[in-house]
Amino acid sequence: MSSGNGSSVPNEVDVVVVGAGFAGLYLLHRLRKLGLSAKAFDAAGDVGGTWYWNRYPGARCDIPTTDYAYSFDPELEQDWTWSEKYATQPEILSYLRHVADRYDLRRDIEFSTSVASATWDESAARWQVVTDRGDQVVCRFYVMASGCLSLPKSPELDGAERFRGDVYYTSRWPHEGVDFTGKRVAVIGTGSSGIQSIPLIAAEAAQLTVFQRTPNFSIPAHNGPPAAERLAALERDRAAYRESARWSRGGVPAELTDVSGVTATAEVRRARFEAAWEAGELFAILGVFNDLMLNPASNDIVAEMIRERIRSIVLDPATAAALCPSDHPFGTKRPCLDSNYFQTYNLPHVRLVDLRREPISTVTEAGIDTVGESFEFDAIVYATGFDAMTGPIVAVDISGRGGVTLKEEWADGPSAYLGLAAVGFPNFFMITGPGSPSVMSNMVVSIEQHVDWVVECIDHIGTEGYDTVEPTPVAQVGWMQHVADCAAITLYPTANSWYMGANVPGKPRVFLPYIGGVDAYRAVCDEVVAADYLGFRFTGSKGSHCNDGVVRRIQPDVAMVLEMMAAMELPPLESMTVEDARAFMTATAAMSPPGPNVGEIVDGVLPGAAGELEYRLYRPASAGPHPVVAYFHGGGWVLGGRDSDDPLCRDLCARSDAIIVSVNYRHAPETRFPAAAEDAFAAVRWIAANAAELGGIPGQLAVAGWSAGGNVAAVACQLARDAGGPDLVGQLLLSPVTDSDMSRPSYQENAEGYVLTAALMRWFWDHYCDPADRMNAKASPLRGDLSNLPPALIVTAEFDPLSDEGVAYAEALADAGVPVRHLAARGHIHTSVPMVDVVLSGANVRAEMALAIRSFFPAAVRV
Ligand SMILES: Cc1cc2nc3c(=O)[nH]c(=O)nc-3n(C[C@H](O)[C@H](O)[C@H](O)COP(=O)(O)OP(=O)(O)OC[C@H]3O[C@@H](n4cnc5c(N)ncnc54)[C@H](O)[C@@H]3O)c2cc1C
Repeated sequence: MSSGNGSSVPNEVDVVVVGAGFAGLYLLHRLRKLGLSAKAFDAAGDVGGTWYWNRYPGARCDIPTTDYAYSFDPELEQDWTWSEKYATQPEILSYLRHVADRYDLRRDIEFSTSVASATWDESAARWQVVTDRGDQVVCRFYVMASGCLSLPKSPELDGAERFRGDVYYTSRWPHEGVDFTGKRVAVIGTGSSGIQSIPLIAAEAAQLTVFQRTPNFSIPAHNGPPAAERLAALERDRAAYRESARWSRGGVPAELTDVSGVTATAEVRRARFEAAWEAGELFAILGVFNDLMLNPASNDIVAEMIRERIRSIVLDPATAAALCPSDHPFGTKRPCLDSNYFQTYNLPHVRLVDLRREPISTVTEAGIDTVGESFEFDAIVYATGFDAMTGPIVAVDISGRGGVTLKEEWADGPSAYLGLAAVGFPNFFMITGPGSPSVMSNMVVSIEQHVDWVVECIDHIGTEGYDTVEPTPVAQVGWMQHVADCAAITLYPTANSWYMGANVPGKPRVFLPYIGGVDAYRAVCDEVVAADYLGFRFTGSKGSHCNDGVVRRIQPDVAMVLEMMAAMELPPLESMTVEDARAFMTATAAMSPPGPNVGEIVDGVLPGAAGELEYRLYRPASAGPHPVVAYFHGGGWVLGGRDSDDPLCRDLCARSDAIIVSVNYRHAPETRFPAAAEDAFAAVRWIAANAAELGGIPGQLAVAGWSAGGNVAAVACQLARDAGGPDLVGQLLLSPVTDSDMSRPSYQENAEGYVLTAALMRWFWDHYCDPADRMNAKASPLRGDLSNLPPALIVTAEFDPLSDEGVAYAEALADAGVPVRHLAARGHIHTSVPMVDVVLSGANVRAEMALAIRSFFPAAVRV
């Protein structure tokens, strides 16, 4: 034994665990079952973690207790009955004590002991762990089960140490409780802990003054007995209920809605909101609309209904106004569940001080001075939150390979693979680490999943005879990119929340948790294991082994579209008749969101190469005249038209402030090659000649096109050059067909599964063009003379059979001296960038496209 404190800390164990909350306890239990020796340390005096420390009045969970409980042992479930829908802190703590007793866990836990450092010893392939009490333990695996919300944030108030009265922190509440009877009390902070404790403190105190920096959204918890329907579902089939929680979005079984806030009627909106308000559950209110966390307009409907409720509860209009959150979208900070929080402000002895209007200047010996007033208090309660997720991890001096510390590695924000492990730190795991669903979920479900994964990984190492495991840089960077991609399409990053690290001065602004959902995340973790631990490197005496790679490369919203399409089990387009394929395209276009408003939309006809062609003109809302873009739709020369590409044209018009003229060219197989290309050129000529009549600026004409439309746009540029005009100032080619050669790698790699398949492309070519003509530059512009063409932006999608020929065109243009930029749309497929208001991750790409259009025109005509 090597205990610096006379305790029973062994010299060496298989695993050291930091923390004895929900995570540490379950981990100990699982490790023991595997026959491994383990030691846990906790700074707390007993088990419980969060529920040991946070003993403030009103402390409760905000996930129904039927769900906020372990599910790993049905017998444990059977012998525990929760008394309330949302159990109080003492009840949850009793539960965790019961768990510790039931599985005899305390004998492997060292309490009142902080882990100070953990150092990887490369030569021994062991961690050396040191505690604040002088214990030194060597272990093979080191696991931080240290909690996401276990490191309180200091209040950062000038003069805080001067106050002579009593000071309390909600996160370090005295075990004997506090009696506020007859006291003048200040509460600083109106996050979840403030909102839970304020009504109870108000019930005792003679005076309560609440200092609020940011008002928070809160809905009534409607606490009472556990919900009958949840109990009944558990009774009916406990295993099935738990399994559905594991595969739910947030870790609580819930039906997802397909009702969009923006398209629902006023009655539907109201009814859905009222039902969620009455349910008093987090995931009910966060699930009112399917676009609640994606679309600001949808979000504001719910936000305003909550503000309406606040105004109806709080009698004093000024106080009500100060309590109404307006600086962040609803849900971007974890909403609170309360019991009579807003009602408390109607009590005569309760007062709200709005720190945005009247900041605190200093804490004094007697109380608090704001810029306008001096307050005297007997007690100050700080409910000022936590240095969330990363704080407790980097608080330990964790030093990995080469002596690099995790704190240094994470100086600009955390980097971890699956929130479980980090490059450079072998045999190191985190439970609910950054980049995992953690605080976005019912954490007990997430904790169980992480513990199971880690234990199985450790078991794998043992059975396979390896010594170490560590993620690869490729896998880690790829995962962090995916985590960021998922957050980027939501409203979450717009708030100054603790999810973003914004509550801690100097902390990097990074969206810390994984927002893709408990279900999606579990699928990822399972897939990683099934793919031979994709992205993990194992080493041992028999050598090293690694299946390197990135687990999620497709943009999350593109993946959702693919999943929806797969669920529809549609026949491949190329198996349909041309008529059926066109009808399908028309139906799809009719279901698409319309795209943004523009100043004016005018339909007309223009002379094509052999008869009239329909066009649609999109005019910007700003005063004209405008530069003009001749646009050609996608659809493999066979399908599509001005309707199919309408949202994209609106979007390009609104973003670029140019007139877009979308032209219907003749389709194959009715009119085959070179009809489409010649129509495109005829349209360009007519638009150039009629620019002024169309409201455009003569001489300021560019072309644009998507897919086959990109093909005819590129050809039109070559024909215009050869014909000596019209002069074109730019070409924007989105995933263009530039060559009939289908042997490039992208054709093989993306042959199937990404909507535009190699087979469909063959079908298009066969309808459009005889094999003998396909090398002609009017069919394969890559084969033409590329000199003296207008500047170009070529956009390619990563998962597109056509991506290599787009790159080839960009390279060939550059070789020919044409100013060209290539933009690779990461994680996109052939059809996703044009999906305006469906694939939100395409918005950045479309913004770049619009910027390119603007750049084609001289500064004098750009708005
Ligand atoms: C007031 C409050 C209410 C919450 N309500 C909910 C809820 O309703 N639903 C939900 O899903 N989540 C809730 N949470 C989140 C909650 O933290 C988790 O649900 C869960 O309790 C986390 O368990 P854990 O074991 O991972 O971490 P914790 O319970 O935080 O335990 C971690 C332990 O590690 C110890 N520790 C940390 N660093 C060290 C170190 N260096 N040395 C020694 N010991 C260390 C800490 O002392 C702590 O005891 C709430 C959090 C708070 C603060």
